[in-house]
Amino acid sequence: MTDPARAPAPDTFDVIVLGAGPAGAAAAMTACRQGLTVALVDKACFPRAKLCGGGVTGRSARYFEEIFGTPLPPELIDTKTAVEFHAEDRPLGALPQIPPMHLTMRWHFDADLVARVLAAGATDLTGCRVAEIDTTTPALTLSDGRRLTARVLIGADGVNSPVARALFGRAYDPARIGFGLEVEAPAPPGNADRPLRIDFGAAQWGYGWDFPKSGSSTIGIGGVLSRNGDMKGAMAAYLDLLGQDPTQPVKGHHLPFGDFRRRPGRGAVLLAGDAAGLVDPITGEGIAYALKSGQLAAQAAARALAEDAPATALRRYRATLRPIHRAIRQARAIRLLLFAPLFRPAFLAAFRRSGHLRHLYMRLLAGEIEYPDLARATLRRLPAFLTGALQRGGTKPPPARDA
Ligand SMILES: Cc1cc2nc3c(=O)[nH]c(=O)nc-3n(C[C@H](O)[C@H](O)[C@H](O)COP(=O)(O)OP(=O)(O)OC[C@H]3O[C@@H](n4cnc5c(N)ncnc54)[C@H](O)[C@@H]3O)c2cc1C
Repeated sequence: MTDPARAPAPDTFDVIVLGAGPAGAAAAMTACRQGLTVALVDKACFPRAKLCGGGVTGRSARYFEEIFGTPLPPELIDTKTAVEFHAEDRPLGALPQIPPMHLTMRWHFDADLVARVLAAGATDLTGCRVAEIDTTTPALTLSDGRRLTARVLIGADGVNSPVARALFGRAYDPARIGFGLEVEAPAPPGNADRPLRIDFGAAQWGYGWDFPKSGSSTIGIGGVLSRNGDMKGAMAAYLDLLGQDPTQPVKGHHLPFGDFRRRPGRGAVLLAGDAAGLVDPITGEGIAYALKSGQLAAQAAARALAEDAPATALRRYRATLRPIHRAIRQARAIRLLLFAPLFRPAFLAAFRRSGHLRHLYMRLLAGEIEYPDLARATLRRLPAFLTGALQRGGTKPPPARDA
């Protein structure tokens, strides 16, 4: 009998998942639960840093439970039930009671996900660099020369996705991509009891956030990159507004902002999460769609493999992704109301006047309502000449490259 401790690691798998963030962990977990052999590959060893506000919405919490079979671990989250909105340095209103919104640190959150996936039986190839991606076989060559083959490859490798680059030549369209800047500010006493803070206008076609957690506050701005000529300047101004040192070093990262891939893969190669552009173009929320699309990709892979037809995986995956694509399209149309210069003043006035509208916005984040519900409520509260202009313009954005 072979000594398992000395047996060489296998190099052929049903599914290889490249990237062990929320999308990759959800894909690998789902594939393991379907009885498939799975390799989880990531260049990083976990825990690892990931620039992110760590906002885990009600939608994310539901997907987490569905995929990992357990509620969000309380030790990983601070739960918020109050929020303050601001715009252009002025308060827009507060809500003392919102649907629970959780905050986490991705350092701990992602490591927890990876641990669950490895416990479920995935082969641990974290801390492994990939030298070459063969999207035809499909196969990966690691930097130590080892070649791994799979019947299905899932690229959950983030916004700069090497798998998307291997398939399509580039990971995202630079004219449409979003960008976020963040600092982790020290937590004053009682920090975790402070409400969430959201600042419309801290970035163009985006917003600013102050997420107070037990150990620190995650403060950042994010928006469509092509609309923000001086994002560093906007971040310094936002830090100054919050009483933070505006000269402190900040970190930045791209994020998809509504420009999802209509064909997220090819044949037996699927893209999930940021690699497929699945981020809400208004809120910048990406964890929920990363979890869900990872799960859907693995389910599509399992069905394709059960019929010994791996090349049908993309067709199956695309069909199940439709509701996410539809929601992103709706959000993209509706963000005109929030971000376009013509509508923004009226939207902000309506938001300031209407606690109901503010509450709907938070229910949207909690996944309790969808974008059309928010749009209807907003349109009812806009002056007639603006709603007329919006209807005449249909869902077309103003002449710009991002929408
Ligand atoms: C500033 C900022 C703030 C944000 N705040 C929020 C928020 O509050 N709430 C929210 O829901 N979303 C937020 N997002 C979006 C969210 O972070 C992403 O949508 C989410 O992380 C996507 O998950 P993913 O698994 O697709 O990709 P990632 O989390 O990026 O994981 C990709 C993984 O792939 C690995 N990888 C990449 N390249 C390679 C390679 N060549 N070889 C091997 N491995 C590789 C990486 O190491 C990484 O572990 C924010 C994003 C930014 C930039």
